[in-house]
Amino acid sequence: MKKVAFHTIGCRLNQSETAVLVDRLKTIGYQRVEFGEPTDLLVLNTCSVTEGAEVDCRRAIRRTLRQSPQAFVAVTGCYAQTGLHAIQTIPGVDLVLGNQFKMDLADYVRPEDLSGKHSSPTVWHTGTIDRADFGQEGVGDFETTRANLKIQDGCNFMCSFCLIPFARGRERSRHLDDAVREAEQLVERGHKEIVLTGVNIGQFATEGLGLIELIQRLEAISGLARIRISSIEPTTIPEALLDYMASSSKLCRFLHVPLQSGDDDILKSMNRRYTVKEYCDWVEHAARTVPDVCIGTDLMVGFPGESEQQFANTRAVVSALPLAYFHVFSYSARLRTAAIHMEDRVPGKSIKARSKNLSELSRLKRAEFYRRFIDQRVSVLFESTEPAGWWSGLTDNFIRVRVPGPTIAANEIQPVQLIGTIGEAALGQIVSAEDCSGRKKILPMVHEQHMDAHVLPLLC
Ligand code: SF4
Repeated sequence: MKKVAFHTIGCRLNQSETAVLVDRLKTIGYQRVEFGEPTDLLVLNTCSVTEGAEVDCRRAIRRTLRQSPQAFVAVTGCYAQTGLHAIQTIPGVDLVLGNQFKMDLADYVRPEDLSGKHSSPTVWHTGTIDRADFGQEGVGDFETTRANLKIQDGCNFMCSFCLIPFARGRERSRHLDDAVREAEQLVERGHKEIVLTGVNIGQFATEGLGLIELIQRLEAISGLARIRISSIEPTTIPEALLDYMASSSKLCRFLHVPLQSGDDDILKSMNRRYTVKEYCDWVEHAARTVPDVCIGTDLMVGFPGESEQQFANTRAVVSALPLAYFHVFSYSARLRTAAIHMEDRVPGKSIKARSKNLSELSRLKRAEFYRRFIDQRVSVLFESTEPAGWWSGLTDNFIRVRVPGPTIAANEIQPVQLIGTIGEAALGQIVSAEDCSGRKKILPMVHEQHMDAHVLPLLC
């Protein structure tokens, strides 16, 4: 049996596509091996958002060819779409598939046709990508408990810093029945939580139906416990979504809504579609409407022209809002985007300092959010063991919970009493329904040296 190794760079959407490619390659006779192990085929599913895409590709190819000099190397994903000429010069590449052809990878690498190394790569690439709504064969093969379900691709928004519209084309949605079909199969495979994934998922619209109709169809799948919406643009969130989230037993109380900057002039230069006030009003409204919701955001530092005052504006805004965490990105100039032509670049040193500043604030906000739930009972979907026999999992509102003890299994949802924080997680203890108020009974299992100051008062 021929072996295939995958190396995925980039976002959740890329990971969801890799999972489907894994499934399809297994169906045609490949055995998946870990990246770095000897293989017959290496698939590099690339990203073009980060500057290091080319370096990542070169490194991954060198590493594979050291182990398996005859391995056939296929490069696909966003960097294959936007960086074709650079990829063609990388030694060892045998096949390049642009995003129009990516999901058809299995047709290009059938085990019986896999020949040795090529002197130059075969290329399948188009400048533009089909705009039609799409279906997608297969079902994601995930090693994680949570499964990503791709429901949408592409973006029409053209934010001035973003290369994604060039890499993935215009927005289009997945046919609703096809998305539900894959979700049902993911649940049959044992997944209890599905994360709806795309480039701009608030724009999901197909056959006259939108995001809420899709969620309603998914909620009807028996055995599916949680549906999570991944990052969603602030101006695209359906009006009725918050009320729906507040009343649903399956839709997670979780919203990741990119802000990028807390300064109106910078938002305008970024070509974002809202003002700071509109964003703040919406977040306050969401926090009031959905009890205990976790709201996170993306922030970009060092956008051209961002002054110290404008950075301070961002900091003040996110500090005051009921946000639980931020992902902080440093601006990097991307070819073909509008921002590359903007003057007044922010020095690298300032970008680094601003990023550190906001990342630190994010840590504080997360800890503050977690502390609100100490002494409460929550439901945790456990994922994996950690060193020293601890287990780790997530609540529906995105609290990372760590629990000591061997009596847990991956992919189980368990009631947990939160009793403190530990590092960057909440510390919990499994309880049964009757144990809910029995804190004294469970505390002796927790080792004191693992705790931080927030736990200690509970021991008294
Ligand atoms: S909304 Fe803006 S940042 Fe997000 S993918 Fe579209 S262009 Fe990029």
